[in-house]
Amino acid sequence: MDIHEHQAKSILAEFGVPVPKGHLAFSPEQAAHAARMLGGGRVVVKAQIHSGGRGAAGGVKLCTSETEVRSYAATLLGKTLVTKQTGAGGKLIERLWIEEATDIAQEIYLGFVLDRKSERIMIVASGHGGMEIEDLAEKDPGSLVRMIIDPAAGLVEFQARDLAFRLGLKGKQIGQFVTTLRACYRAYRDLDAMMVEINPLAVTGAGDLVALDAKMSFDTNALYRRPQVAALRDPGQEDPRESSAHDNGLAYVGLEGDIGCIINGAGLAMATMDMIHLAGGAPANFLDIGGGASPERVVTAFRTVLTDPNVGVILVNIFAGINRCDWIARGVVQAYQEVGLTLPVIVRLSGTNVEEGREIIRTSGLPLMSADTLAEAAKLAVRSRPSPIAAQ
Ligand code: GDP
Ligand code: MN
Repeated sequence: MDIHEHQAKSILAEFGVPVPKGHLAFSPEQAAHAARMLGGGRVVVKAQIHSGGRGAAGGVKLCTSETEVRSYAATLLGKTLVTKQTGAGGKLIERLWIEEATDIAQEIYLGFVLDRKSERIMIVASGHGGMEIEDLAEKDPGSLVRMIIDPAAGLVEFQARDLAFRLGLKGKQIGQFVTTLRACYRAYRDLDAMMVEINPLAVTGAGDLVALDAKMSFDTNALYRRPQVAALRDPGQEDPRESSAHDNGLAYVGLEGDIGCIINGAGLAMATMDMIHLAGGAPANFLDIGGGASPERVVTAFRTVLTDPNVGVILVNIFAGINRCDWIARGVVQAYQEVGLTLPVIVRLSGTNVEEGREIIRTSGLPLMSADTLAEAAKLAVRSRPSPIAAQ
């Protein structure tokens, strides 16, 4: 789960990261008021959306007067901002963060991520942070400093100091960097984060460190024990298809294609996506219906898949171990009747009670297509699309 920049800054500040003063604004008037409360000097107006790359997309602006703040806030609020990270749909700007401007001498990149290879938290840092960090990571990956943290020892001071030296920091910056690094690590660990990123961590004209941007992402599986974090969720920033699935407890990821998928098991779902691509199509979603799916759950899965207007055909692929093919089949029939389906549906069943399941499909009197193998199901789905979109 992602949170907004201002929320991440407030969390990190509590752990000891230096951040500039700022205020939240939901209207141009509030933005102007915030600028006044910051002393009337230069401020930065920042669009709060769950995405990076806002600067390059016009979502971050340095303003020198209250009038400028007000007019820029009016331009941003209610607008959809498309960045390199949002996809073509963009994200709606509903709130702004108004922050005192900082005079920047150097931009440092600092990231904490989960390194799956070592199964540990890894720090990634660069002395050349800011908006071009992705280009740098691509062109010269060797220039990024990486450091793995031993969970038993935690982030130890000499490691933090070593990193400060490798980034070329000097004097009082070293102590400030150690404090910042340890604060990020504690926030990451104590709050079950998946990612903490400060870009840029600025060296100011006066030589101090301050976090000008902050991003945090959390492990959704741990939210049950982090109610303060769960409360920061902003459904307005989520893919509406995913919010509805999330509310129904389904594992769903929205994709760009037109073949809606209802599958049990994440592995089978991945294999099905591959098969669809191989057959020349594109999946509209990843959906793992899970084990022991009741007919009601199948109906919910259909409703979720149908929240995506791009879906032109539905592929149900079940390899029943814990699941039962007859339950799934009954769910499909029920969904057809309850949801008022008009789209072609392909059903491939295998495993527990497969004969009963196929019998229900066969005798339903509904225009359901049965397939015996995964490859056959994928081909049928691709062929049954009402208006095929170009394969990507
Ligand atoms: P992002 O593009 O979504 O990562 O948004 P950032 O918060 O990182 O802002 C983009 C860029 O704006 C930063 O890389 C900085 O170069 C610049 N920026 C942000 N805050 C300030 C500030 O207070 N003063 C100045 N001069 N530049 C800023
Ligand atoms: Mn940034």
